[in-house]
Amino acid sequence: MALATAKFDALVIGGGGAGLRASLQLANSGLKVAVLSKVFPTRSHTVAAQGGIAAALGNVADDKWLWHMYDTIKGSDFLGDQDAIEFMCKNAAKAIIELEHFGMPFDRLENGKIFQRPFGGMTQNFGEKAISRTCAVADRTGHAMLHTLYQRNIQAKTQFFVEWFALDLIRDSAGDVLGVLALEIETGEIHVLQAKTTLLATGGAGRIFQASTNAFINTGDGLGMAVRAGLPLQDMEFWQFHPTGVLHAGVLITEGVRGEGGYLVNGEGERFMERYAPNAKDLASRDVISRAIATEIKAGRGAGKNKDAVFLKLDHLGEELINKRLPGIREIAKTFANVDPIYDPIPVVPTAHYMMGGIPTNLDGQVIEPTADGQKVVNGLYAVGECACVSVHGANRLGSNSLLDLVVFGKAAGEKMALEIAQNQAHKDLPADAADMTLARIARIENTKNKESVSAVGEDMRRTMQTHCGVFRFPDLLASGIEAIDAVAKRAQEIQIKDKSAVFNTARVEALELDNLMEVAVATMHAAHARTESRGAHAREDFSARDDINWLKHSLIYKQDQRLVYKPVRLQPLTVESFEPKARVY
Ligand SMILES: Cc1cc2nc3c(=O)[nH]c(=O)nc-3n(C[C@H](O)[C@H](O)[C@H](O)COP(=O)(O)OP(=O)(O)OC[C@H]3O[C@@H](n4cnc5c(N)ncnc54)[C@H](O)[C@@H]3O)c2cc1C
Repeated sequence: MALATAKFDALVIGGGGAGLRASLQLANSGLKVAVLSKVFPTRSHTVAAQGGIAAALGNVADDKWLWHMYDTIKGSDFLGDQDAIEFMCKNAAKAIIELEHFGMPFDRLENGKIFQRPFGGMTQNFGEKAISRTCAVADRTGHAMLHTLYQRNIQAKTQFFVEWFALDLIRDSAGDVLGVLALEIETGEIHVLQAKTTLLATGGAGRIFQASTNAFINTGDGLGMAVRAGLPLQDMEFWQFHPTGVLHAGVLITEGVRGEGGYLVNGEGERFMERYAPNAKDLASRDVISRAIATEIKAGRGAGKNKDAVFLKLDHLGEELINKRLPGIREIAKTFANVDPIYDPIPVVPTAHYMMGGIPTNLDGQVIEPTADGQKVVNGLYAVGECACVSVHGANRLGSNSLLDLVVFGKAAGEKMALEIAQNQAHKDLPADAADMTLARIARIENTKNKESVSAVGEDMRRTMQTHCGVFRFPDLLASGIEAIDAVAKRAQEIQIKDKSAVFNTARVEALELDNLMEVAVATMHAAHARTESRGAHAREDFSARDDINWLKHSLIYKQDQRLVYKPVRLQPLTVESFEPKARVY
């Protein structure tokens, strides 16, 4: 079958904050760059980011990037790579000023400087006390950032392919990546998009869980593509559960609420975080608070009719502050919890939120894979944002560090791609079998003899992950979880689209997304089962302590037999002294 082919200098898969920051860099370098997005770019999940973006600007109190670096390393439970964390924190202030110059309308202090609010785990002077480090645009920071970047891309003449779905990477026998195969959703046509460099910026995969703050589009497509191209995924056992998702709805209530002075109470009206984190209390890091909530509920001290939540109280903040700084939160509480937070508390529970793991990269966003004697760069392939693992978030991300990660590493990847393109003027020839695997995959889901439905298999996957691999991880549940998720994955091979003519291409897309979600779910369960310690968001009941002797290392999992290999954490920063692992208390 002859497929339509188009050629570009650079392909960016994903129009969220990460993709758009990279594409802007490339377009401004005068390169022919295409951004593919399965939804209109400004509908990417970045648009939902509420609370803010961190940088040690020191606008509210004295601050240093080194303190931000320390907080991030501690937040990561020492699994983050210290060179990458230094790079991010050091470049944060520059990134904020750049966004401001692009036109991002940051909130202001009385003196005209950019407003900053406190966020969990962000401190002054190496943990001494909480600091206001998170820059914000009310509680709609991601919205402002994404629209700013999109408009700048329009100005820079980035070419957009909207509602195009990337299917698979094209990799030749040398292992180099030469572009992607993509589905034009409107027509159902499959295209070959050839590029000298390809960037994956496809975002998270929170939809592997039943209760999630993530959008329906967060299906881990870039991870699925990497896995099918024979690449490993890194640190997939680490998933962040946000402490405050609206009960039953999963919709996020930003940590900015607690940054502004809101706090949690249990069913007995007690401020229970004072027991779990005496200093930081409601601004301890997210894994700590999520475990505290789960423990309170399990002990029968939950709030609400069924005692299955805790309450987030903000009525004491006053109507004026809530309307000024948290207007979106008031709206969400009214719509999804049927309460007006000016008067009543919001019932919340820990909800799957962020994937710390992803496609392994170096500081330039280049994808790396292990070799017999170390590691090497995969020529032509980059990854940035939530789909990537560089790793700045380690075992637990600090709130407001992800938006920062997008712009700092988005820019770095764009710069490196421009360099690589300048050195490599010609497109490599495509292998003859470039489309075979993908076409076979599409034929498989269109095989009318198949019996499984996409929605039933998807539901079973989400339930399995929620039950077996949640906030706390139990040995028996992990062991049975492996069997259960492998069985669901097998059934996913037998899915079919019932009525192609009636359901248009969206049904095809949902089936293809399920393929990707399954890769992420299976990798997560196997990696979680293998890590016999507790670190950051990975909390095992049978191995409750962190084990730096055996486990101060990143996991890399392959599709083939779920084979796991490990590599050491990079404890050496770029220019400053290393922060040695120590007990993590808040
Ligand atoms: C509700 C919520 C609130 C948050 N609040 C904050 C916050 O306040 N501060 C903070 O730092 N972090 C926050 N986060 C985390 C942060 O927003 C995300 O990690 C980050 O925005 C992800 O950006 P991204 O560019 O990697 O991906 P996304 O913004 O998710 O974009 C992914 C892009 O990839 C495209 N795509 C995916 N698959 C395909 C495919 N197969 N083909 C073509 N295109 C594809 C999509 O169309 C989309 O354009 C929040 C997350 C959530 C869910």
